[in-house]
Parts: sequence; structure tokens; C-alpha cells
Amino acid sequence: MESATKPGEATATNGATATNGATATAETFDVYRPADGSVMRTVEITSPAKVAETVAAARAAQKEWEAIGFGGRKVWLERLRDWIFDNQDHLDEVMQQETGKVRADAALEAFYCVDAINFWNDQGPKWLADEVVTPHVPILRTKRHKIVYRPYGVVGLISPWNFPVILSLGDAIPALVAGNAAVVKPSEITPLTLMEIERGWKEDIGGPDVFHVVNGVAETAGALIDEVDYLQFTGSERTGKLVMKRAAETLTPVSLELGGKDPMIVTRDADIERAVNATAWGGLINTGQICISIERVYVEEPIYDEFVEKLKAKVETLRQGADGDSYTAEVGAMTSPAQIDIVSDHVEDARAKGARILTGGRKKEGPGDWYEPTVIADADHSMKVMTDETFGPVIPVMKVKSVDEAVELANDTRYGLGSSVFAGDPEEGERIARRIEAGHCNVNDVLVNYNVLSLPMGGWKNSGIGVRHGAQGIRRFCHTEALTVPRMKQTKNEPMWFPYNARKRNFLRRVYRLMNARGRKRFKG
Ligand code: NAD
Repeated sequence: MESATKPGEATATNGATATNGATATAETFDVYRPADGSVMRTVEITSPAKVAETVAAARAAQKEWEAIGFGGRKVWLERLRDWIFDNQDHLDEVMQQETGKVRADAALEAFYCVDAINFWNDQGPKWLADEVVTPHVPILRTKRHKIVYRPYGVVGLISPWNFPVILSLGDAIPALVAGNAAVVKPSEITPLTLMEIERGWKEDIGGPDVFHVVNGVAETAGALIDEVDYLQFTGSERTGKLVMKRAAETLTPVSLELGGKDPMIVTRDADIERAVNATAWGGLINTGQICISIERVYVEEPIYDEFVEKLKAKVETLRQGADGDSYTAEVGAMTSPAQIDIVSDHVEDARAKGARILTGGRKKEGPGDWYEPTVIADADHSMKVMTDETFGPVIPVMKVKSVDEAVELANDTRYGLGSSVFAGDPEEGERIARRIEAGHCNVNDVLVNYNVLSLPMGGWKNSGIGVRHGAQGIRRFCHTEALTVPRMKQTKNEPMWFPYNARKRNFLRRVYRLMNARGRKRFKG
């Protein structure tokens, strides 16, 4: 079924306005190829009743999934890993079509997931092992005390369109390793690769009923939030707030991975060539549609002119296009037509306020959703391109007098997701990094922290709540249960228990005074 409506024009009738390129009827929505605007597939919307049914099925299967332990779950997840390897070309192809990514960027999604399966299978049992606690009160050492991690049950995941598999399956993997079932609602703009993986899990692998995909926009998402035991959301700040509000109704715990406006600081003694190459890649990989893209660059005055000239030259060497499986382009299409409007608005605002557009700066004519890779010089904080999330192939650069000014500007934002510092001396880079208000800072590098799955990844300020990756990245999917178990034969009654009397009260007073008072006060009263 093809839709006559152009991408970006229609609104969903399923309870919410579509914020993106998907069109929708009450029962379906269309998924487009951003490279040429053609319809790829029409997808059925999952009704709230069906969401409830799906979560109930996941909940029923979760019991056995938890019971088979880390070893049993590892076997199934390794089957999924091997299935991804066996089907990678097909998955890359579907991904490329529905997102408009170049093949090199599309391929990153499968790479991440196979690595993540092995990582969480190895680390999960360690990070979720019982933790023995020694009480600070000596008398309570007559018992064994433990922190036990118990899976929530069913974890819901709502994900965006820029990395449709990394940001859905990628987060579902630690949830599954921890013993949860996972139900994902992918972006209505890019659900197809994930649906293909769900099909593989169910039909080819014959996996347990613990991994499901539901489709739709706000109504489906709302129903999912209502039904699950924990909700991981990745998307915009605006929707994140709506998710938290909805989750408050059922007191469902959430983690929110939201937008960013990541700064890069380049000091006067940095390796300019490395900094330029890093800026081009960190700002334009995935056509600039990464939450941790380099979104603004502050360069110290003495090297500013050389930096912007070299950056312009570098960006002008990049090839933009639909490269199939030939790996012959660096910059792809924009996945969401609505995002092109935001990008154009930011560039025109900067142009009008006196910035120089050194290269790019236009939406491409013709079919599909293409915006030229763009470098902007002489940007400043009066411009939206330096303060609001652009989420497109645009790199604005601003001249600064000093590192102090750069740090102040880097922190002058409501976001705090990531950052980078390029300095001649890595130790100086680290000192600057420690002054930046963000969830991560890469010194003399960009985006690299995302591949270090042992490091927590999450935002400060309006960039989110909670983290993925690291020990917290899997523990967030678990309740903690505090256990106290006797070590020795117990008496029939305890001094704290009934009945109360003055003798017991005086005894306890003496004990607490002995333990907590200092100096001579310990022995008074
Ligand atoms: P979005 O907020 O528009 O949509 C995200 C998801 O929320 C989609 O699945 C969408 O269908 C769903 N949704 C829409 N309305 C909803 C509602 N009322 N209640 C619940 N869910 C609803 O975001 P997007 O445009 O898909 O993605 C781009 C944004 O995501 C950018 O801001 C980007 O920075 C952010 N992002 C953050 C991270 C991170 O890790 N911090 C990673 C990638 C993207």
C-alpha cells in the first residue's frame, strides 16, 4: 500500500502528531527511502490492546528466561550474534535503505551489536553477582549481608531513527542478559531492520518469547510505558519529558538518553591536522545525525584561520551520495525530512547573523532528503547553530581568545552529553576535560568513548537521566534486593524487639554512645 502523501507532510492519526517523515493512517504508517523519497514498506501500528498482549506474552516467557541463568541466556544470545553475522549484508541493505546512511555507517550497527552481545555475556555475570556487604555495626556482623540483583521483568525500549538498531537492540542486550524480557518500540521512521531481527529471532533462531517489537508513535509508546516494569527511552529532550510524565502515572522507573550540543575545544598547540580530521569525522559521520556529534567547535585565535581553512578543504573532499554496497561515499542522506527543516533554519539564522558559510549550506535539489556537508566560520552564541541541537551535517566554528573562554562557552548550554578537547599535551587536555560539564570528554579524539562499553555513557543536565554501558548500564535493568541471613544459631528474642523496658533502653543507649560518641563522651550517661 503506497501513500500519496509526501514524507514530512502527514500527521499520524494514532493519537499523536508524527514528528518526522512517516505518514500514517489509523492502522498503518509508511516507511520511506530517504535517498529518493520512495515508499519502502507500509507497517501496521500496534494497538494499545496488542501492546498489552505482547507485554503479557513477554512477561510469561521471562520467568523461564530468568530461570535458565546467565549460561542459558548466553547460548541464545550467541545464536543471535551468529545470525547477525550470517545476515549482515541483508541487514546493512535494509538499514541503508530506510535511513539513507552510507554503507560504512550502516554497517556500524551490526558491528556494535555482535560486540555488545559478547561484552554483556562476559561482564553481566560479574556486575550482577551478589555483593557481600560488611556492616559498620559490629554486632550485625553475626549475619551475612548481600546485595542481590533481580531483573525487573519486562523492559520497554523506545528508540530514535538515527541508529535504529544500536539504540534499540543495543540496549535490549544488557536487559536480556540480566534476565529481563525486552519489548522495543522503534522509531516509526526506521523500524524495518529491527523488525527483520525480530523475525530472525522468532523464525530462524526459534528464540524464547522474550524479544518483541511493537510499532507506532505516541499511542503505542504510551501503552508500552503503561505496561512494562522499566522503560529505557532514547530520543529528543521534548519527548523524553513526555515519557517521564507518562511513566510517573505508574511510577515506572526510566532512563532517558536525550539530545546534545557537544562542544569541541581546540587549543593553540593542538595537532591541527588531527583536530581537523577528527572534526570532519565527528561532525559528519552518519550525516551529523548522532547525539554525540561534534556540534560546535571553539578554536584558539592563533590557529583559527588555519583550522577553518583546512576544515573547509577536508569537508570539500567528502563524497555525498547513495553508495549501495560500494563504500564510495562518506556522507549520506538525512533520515528525517523534518530534520532538514531544522538544519536549514540553523544555517540561515547563522548566515543572517553574519557567519560565513565556507562550504555547503543548502538542501540539495531533486528527489530524496539531502543536505550538503556544511562548514560555518565566525559563529557565535547569538546563533541557533551554536545553542540548539542541529542534528545534521553542519560544523560551526567560533574563534576564542583563551581556553578559559572556550570552557565557559562549552558549558553555556542546557545540554551535557559529550565533548572533546584537542590539546598539544594530553595532560593539559585532561585538565580542560575535567572542567567541562558533560557525561564524557574525549581528549585528542572524538566519539571513541562509545566503543568502550565499560565506560558509563549518559548525559548531564537536559541530556538525560541514567547511563548506558558500564556496570550501571546493566544494573539499571535490575531491582536491588538487600538480603540478611543469619550465620549462627539465634536466640528466641532480640534486644530491639518487644517488650520495651527501661533496662533494655539503657543498654541500647550505652551501646549507641559507645559506638558513635567520641572521646570521653563515649563513657558518660
Ligand atoms: P523523538 O523524541 O522524536 O522520537 C524518539 C522516539 O519517541 C520514537 O520512537 C518516537 O516514535 C517516540 N515518541 C514520539 N512521541 C512520543 C510520545 N508522546 N511518547 C513516547 N514516545 C514518543 O526523537 P528522534 O527524532 O527519533 O531522535 C532524535 C533525537 O534523539 C535527538 O535529539 C538526539 O540527540 C536524540 N538521541 C539521543 C541519544 C543518546 O544516547 N543520548 C542517541 C540518539 C539520539
